[in-house]
Amino acid sequence: MPASSTTRIIANGRIWSAAAGAAERGGALESPPQAIVVHHGRIAAIGPLRELQPRFPGAELFDAGGRLVTPGFIDCHTHIVHAGTRAAEFERRRAGESYQSIAKSGGGILSTVAATRQASLQQLIDTALPRVDALIADGLTTLEVKSGYGLDLDTELRMLRAARAIADLRALNVATTYLGAHALPPEHAGDAEGYVQRLCAELLPTVAASGLADAFDAYCESVAFTPQQVAKIFQAAQQCGLRVKLHADQLSNLHGARLAAQHQALSADHLEYTDEEGVAALARAGTVAVILPGAFYFLREQQRPPIEALRRARVAMAVATDCNPGTSPLCSLLTAMNLAAVEFGLTTEECLAGVTCHAARALGLHDAVGTLEPGKWCDAAIWDVAHPAELVNNLGARPLHRRFWHGQPDA
Ligand SMILES: [Zn+2]
Repeated sequence: MPASSTTRIIANGRIWSAAAGAAERGGALESPPQAIVVHHGRIAAIGPLRELQPRFPGAELFDAGGRLVTPGFIDCHTHIVHAGTRAAEFERRRAGESYQSIAKSGGGILSTVAATRQASLQQLIDTALPRVDALIADGLTTLEVKSGYGLDLDTELRMLRAARAIADLRALNVATTYLGAHALPPEHAGDAEGYVQRLCAELLPTVAASGLADAFDAYCESVAFTPQQVAKIFQAAQQCGLRVKLHADQLSNLHGARLAAQHQALSADHLEYTDEEGVAALARAGTVAVILPGAFYFLREQQRPPIEALRRARVAMAVATDCNPGTSPLCSLLTAMNLAAVEFGLTTEECLAGVTCHAARALGLHDAVGTLEPGKWCDAAIWDVAHPAELVNNLGARPLHRRFWHGQPDA
């Protein structure tokens, strides 16, 4: 979708946005009502309306009515493109069956792999769109989409194509991630080394050459890939010109955070079991810590990520939905913010920075989106709330008044 060529002024909005420089620390403050001038989809100026209006005669005026204006929300970690449902597994777990037993009987990630391999491109798009629309209704303007439920070349490419198609069908930015090391594909059962070799020599170079992936991701865990395997795969990904991300330290401490930092990863995600040394490594590398409270809540985990240590070390913390059919079927960033606050103790400011400026950094898109500053895309959300804390506090409310993508308001 093209950016609007109209010059537009969003007037009378109380702007919450991390300011230049302060963006990395999430040190944002709500401003008194100000105007945002948008030209060709980008922010041209921010300031008092009486000063800006004469400079941009003929600009179309949008009155925000004194409402809160934030950067458009960014979900920097999703598995939103997939086929099938795992709701029956949810019921089995409620009835007392363990996740391991369900996985053994063909459930878990591999059941989604089986369903996704059978789905056409159109089916993948059609089933993802309602979930994407739910995120958009909560102010989303940038979405990360991972592959990883194909684990064979055709399906992985089809998933990435579906993700790119979503960007054409909806007014939002889509960042794609090739999650080639999500799980061992069934045809490689018992042969992890064989798959790693094939991934490095064949799959990664082909996916990278397709131009369909903006980054590469892996799952470092006892039930997935070892740190040694991930290191090898990361090296291959980087040789193909892809930035890396890592599902790290979710269920145990395999020093995934340190591994991610050693490879200058954009982000290390989950981090429930990350220790002080891992936190220090993230801080040194400037790798974003992506907090995923949905999976923690849904799996009824007990181990919380080291929020206080991350805070002390000034590691940028992002908050994402991890939207996936098995462990976090969550299609709302507002709910993810509430979970991050209630379960992990994040402040309102941390939650908002987590779904705006820090999420942008986790995708390497911080020069283009994530804050409301001149030169960046005017991706913004206008909210019917008296105070920013209501966005975190009010569970299940739909406070979005209007969403702007590249300067264009939703109808
Ligand atoms: Zn994930």
